[in-house]
Amino acid sequence: MQIKICGCRGSLPTPGRSTLKYGGNTTCLEIRSNQGQLVIIDAGSGLHKLGNELVSEVSQKHIRFFFTHSHWDHLMGFPFFPPAYRSDYTLRFCSGPHSQDTVKNFLSHQMQAPFFPLELDNLNANMIFHCDNPCHEDRVCNFDELGVKAFPVNHPNGGFGYRIIEEGKVFAFAPDNELDYHHEGGPDPDYFVDIFRGVDLLIHDSQYNDEEYKKTRSWGHSTFNSTVDLAIKAGVKRLGLFHHDPDRTDEELDEQLAICQERIRMAGSSLDCFVATEGMTLTL
Ligand SMILES: [Zn+2]
Ligand SMILES: [Zn+2]
Repeated sequence: MQIKICGCRGSLPTPGRSTLKYGGNTTCLEIRSNQGQLVIIDAGSGLHKLGNELVSEVSQKHIRFFFTHSHWDHLMGFPFFPPAYRSDYTLRFCSGPHSQDTVKNFLSHQMQAPFFPLELDNLNANMIFHCDNPCHEDRVCNFDELGVKAFPVNHPNGGFGYRIIEEGKVFAFAPDNELDYHHEGGPDPDYFVDIFRGVDLLIHDSQYNDEEYKKTRSWGHSTFNSTVDLAIKAGVKRLGLFHHDPDRTDEELDEQLAICQERIRMAGSSLDCFVATEGMTLTL
């Protein structure tokens, strides 16, 4: 599969000179399966540019969405997604059972007057708000050779991460997950060691450094150190640091990456750690 990072900023889009290297758009991933399925996870502000690229591609008119949760930074791009305005597109919305009931509600809510000039019903795409492969208790959605498993995370108001498997390669994504605090409905820390065990690529929340976390504990996000320690413990092969704080400059992210790499070296681990970057494509 191919994974393209279309937005990796957390909380708020942050354009400007200090974020040119790693990007300022909020969460959005494009995933292409080897069989040509197109999956989008989250509709942050990065979705707008992705949508412009998709409409110039004549062959791909079926898009499958998964959402991690309903916070603004993961939804705000949807009203600006050009394929949603075109009748030749089919958009199918899949998710874990919890979000399944609410995806249409939260997409339409953010477009209700007086927050937006058009409503969800005014969009021309064929929008299907149920999965054609009903998610069962195990929250696994299988289509073609792709298996997508939703798992609960520790985040205010709840949410999901995703574990995606194709031809034996495993990608895990948890953009908003607080490893050092228990939120309602969230699992125990050991759960994440199991769910991320041996994955080829993990992209995970690392919004704060340890000093910042003293003031932001319980806000729903992890530290660089906790994320790196978890990835080492779980035997992850590659780790992408994600959900960059809106105040984090490119220079600071470079510094944090160097600190993470030193921590990995001191632990005697071979974990490959990088900073998630807007526009980056990763192949598994
Ligand atoms: Zn977020
Ligand atoms: Zn969130």
